[in-house]
Amino acid sequence: MANPLIERSRSAMPGGVNSPVRAFRAVGSEPIFARRAHGATLTTTDGETLIDYCMSFGPLILGHAHPDVVEAVAEAAQWGTSYAVTTEAEIEMAELIREAIPSMERVRLVSSGTEACMTAIRVARGATGRNKILKFGGCYHGHADCLLVKAGSGVAGIATASSAGVPQACAKQTLVARYNHPEDVEALVTEHGDDLAAILVEPVAANMGLVLPADGFLQHLREQADRCGALLIFDGVICGFRFCFGEYQRLCGVTPDLTCLGKIIGGGMPIGAVGGRADLMEHLAPLGAVYQGGTLSGNPVSVAAGLATLRRLRADQPYAELEAKTQRLTAGIQELAAARQIDLQLPTLGSLFAIVFTAEPIRSFEAVELTRQDLFHQLFHSLLRRGIYLPPSPFEVCFLSTAHDDGHIDRTLAAWDVALTELTQT
Ligand SMILES: *Cc1c(COP(=O)(O)O)cnc(C)c1O
Repeated sequence: MANPLIERSRSAMPGGVNSPVRAFRAVGSEPIFARRAHGATLTTTDGETLIDYCMSFGPLILGHAHPDVVEAVAEAAQWGTSYAVTTEAEIEMAELIREAIPSMERVRLVSSGTEACMTAIRVARGATGRNKILKFGGCYHGHADCLLVKAGSGVAGIATASSAGVPQACAKQTLVARYNHPEDVEALVTEHGDDLAAILVEPVAANMGLVLPADGFLQHLREQADRCGALLIFDGVICGFRFCFGEYQRLCGVTPDLTCLGKIIGGGMPIGAVGGRADLMEHLAPLGAVYQGGTLSGNPVSVAAGLATLRRLRADQPYAELEAKTQRLTAGIQELAAARQIDLQLPTLGSLFAIVFTAEPIRSFEAVELTRQDLFHQLFHSLLRRGIYLPPSPFEVCFLSTAHDDGHIDRTLAAWDVALTELTQT
């Protein structure tokens, strides 16, 4: 019998969801519905408990319902969920972020990653007096109008809207280069540099599977931004606090002017942050002429969840252990695939990995698009039947948390063993 929530959700909400990937269109099936979650597992309304590798798409590096976070949220809620007056906790949050990411000299908290990127762009435009933004195909920065774009077919680099409802006039202010193609950036900077406000990039691209920056790529962006007087913005919404207690800039040695954060810094509650050089951030109201505000910005519950998460990460520094666990899982999967002569790449960094059915290592979005997505669909459903929940799209990455233990990994490998066997039989 079909789950009655399917019909009800669709008659109450567009597509039955509050965010499109949840509808499972990318894997061609009915969605699951969550009842509750704990640690590394998610329990559906059908009563199935799944090992979760989606983990809310990134915020839950400590696992679901970590006791520190639950306690902090309950404690904060007790004293009021929103004051619209500044709290000491917000100051502490900004200080803790700056301690971890020194380039974020001033920090403004917002309520989502989308809002962080939107604000960073407005600051960049306000500070430089320029209009254009350069982004990369396959990088996701939330759903602000000028970022919902794809490479256009007309003038080289000029974007077209990738969503209805985005004015072409707005999309035209965005230039699109290919990730890991420095020659694209150089050409666009040469042509549009005098009106370029910012180069915006996910320093590790984690919304097109997982594509690591090629040697020197981020450094090249820094140089190109400096060459034309544009700002460099790192979208660290996934990368922030994912690979180290800080942002990827600490590992790659390239310092952006502005950094966007979200996901982990809210511990599973709505949050975002934008920060950077004081002189740039001081363009924001009330000091400067760039307006940005939010009724629930820095609300005590999100901040409590975020602080609890960041304090735990700082105390435990779980990064080497997370990486070792992820390596064990991906090495195990590689071995199973190799034994069956299945062409499978598992690009991995820290506790992130992607699943790409192809023989060649992936360096760009264009390459990801050409891979065997039909095989991913089969794999997704085969693993789901065996209690393993992957992100429901081949373009999303898998996330491990500190709650994933050896037992989870063993069960996951056993499920992959069967799933890959099924795959070769079709
Ligand atoms: C998730 C994500 C965003 C958007 O964050 P929301 O909180 O969903 O608005 C922006 N940038 C990157 C890199 C993301 O992964």
